[in-house]
Amino acid sequence: MYDLGCVMYDVFMIRESFELATSIIRDMNLLSLIDLQKSYITHRKSYICDAMKTFNVPIIYRSPLVTAIKNNRKQQDKMKKDFTPTLLDFGTIQIYLARHFGFCYGVENAIEISFRTIEENPEKRIFLLSEMIHNPQVNAELQSRGVKFLQDTYGKELISFNELTADDIVIIPAFGTTLEIEKKLNEIGIRTEKYNTTCPFVEKVWNRSEQIAKKNYTVVVHGKPKHEETRATFSHAAHNTPTVVVNDMREAIELSKFITGENPSSAFYESFKNQYSEGFDVSKDLERIGVVNQTTMLASDTQAIADFLKQTMVQKYNLVEADIENHFADTRDTLCYATNDNQSAAMGLLETKADFAIVIGGYNSSNTSHLVELCEEKLPTYFINSEEKILSSNEILHFNFHTKQELLTTNYLPSQKPIKVLITSGASCPDALVEGVIRKLTGFFSIDKSVEEMIEEFRKL
Ligand code: SF4
Repeated sequence: MYDLGCVMYDVFMIRESFELATSIIRDMNLLSLIDLQKSYITHRKSYICDAMKTFNVPIIYRSPLVTAIKNNRKQQDKMKKDFTPTLLDFGTIQIYLARHFGFCYGVENAIEISFRTIEENPEKRIFLLSEMIHNPQVNAELQSRGVKFLQDTYGKELISFNELTADDIVIIPAFGTTLEIEKKLNEIGIRTEKYNTTCPFVEKVWNRSEQIAKKNYTVVVHGKPKHEETRATFSHAAHNTPTVVVNDMREAIELSKFITGENPSSAFYESFKNQYSEGFDVSKDLERIGVVNQTTMLASDTQAIADFLKQTMVQKYNLVEADIENHFADTRDTLCYATNDNQSAAMGLLETKADFAIVIGGYNSSNTSHLVELCEEKLPTYFINSEEKILSSNEILHFNFHTKQELLTTNYLPSQKPIKVLITSGASCPDALVEGVIRKLTGFFSIDKSVEEMIEEFRKL
């Protein structure tokens, strides 16, 4: 009973429906509200991830090694407080795996819905609005089963919406979509709600935007303007209130100059071209603001941007603490739990001295590129999307996300032993790819124990 109450509470909290959650739980007489709130605060982190639904994800994406490790760590650290990495000691090569990495709630949910939809509708045409998640292997698998993508990652039409009929199925990806696209599909007669895999943590940001919009704040979205999720969040926020997107601190500083009047209002429309809502009036729409973010941004960046804009308001309006909310909404950060966990785990991983790091994930994956950013501050880091990029013990092909190019690096393995490698992966990366990388690397050496023996060891722990 206790567990069920906490889980329900969390699921409803994600959807920002506190009253609904508490009334249902009260009716069910599961817990007193006070007990529930106490238990919620104490157990939130572990319940939110561990007690939520287990998804039916195709076995090809799972890894016996990673599953054994994750199960073991989960048992030992139910509250998810320990961010130290897991050591896989093969003797000549020592691999340190981040405490948290790989598929998140939203990705598993989207994969389950998509594969189930294919199975249940063999006679229908099935489309995905765009890439379901930013992972090339998963997207290719869906395409091989006949699913077609309507748009590319940036919203460019690949197949005209005019070709769709009411009989078709269109799956909305985990990033969500814009109200305009939803309307377009509904007008064709396509039921978007039935095959909607929008992650509840993305919806949580939309709800937060709606809440501050009701209090007449303008929404500032910290996100990548062209990213599917930011476009969707922008659309939902702009439906309720003036909205502007800032990509980074440089743009936040630029925005602050319009708040203080340092920049002429007329320049705003060029500086933030394609990043502000229709009818945005610089002279009044920057008087009350609140910051929300794309769920996968770097936590420290979002915090810095929110703090900076808050300070701008304090100085502009000479605010004392009690008056700040007159001009700056307290949104808290709207990163999702997976982004938080994976970034904290990457920081924990980086406390280990190592020769290099490997980060695995799709090259267009925002959360993965932020993990790369964290790692490359400390040590040589190779961003790869599969073990195939490790060409040999001498050559690795890896992605530079700053220049958007793949590079070939030679002699990436140092000669002294043991070699120490840090490994993590993004929230849309199947664990099977992580195991593939571990097998590939260990295959270059004479090792003390095999991967199979390592799996057995973790299963027995
Ligand atoms: S990264 Fe977070 S917001 Fe994005 S799909 Fe995963 S859980 Fe949802």
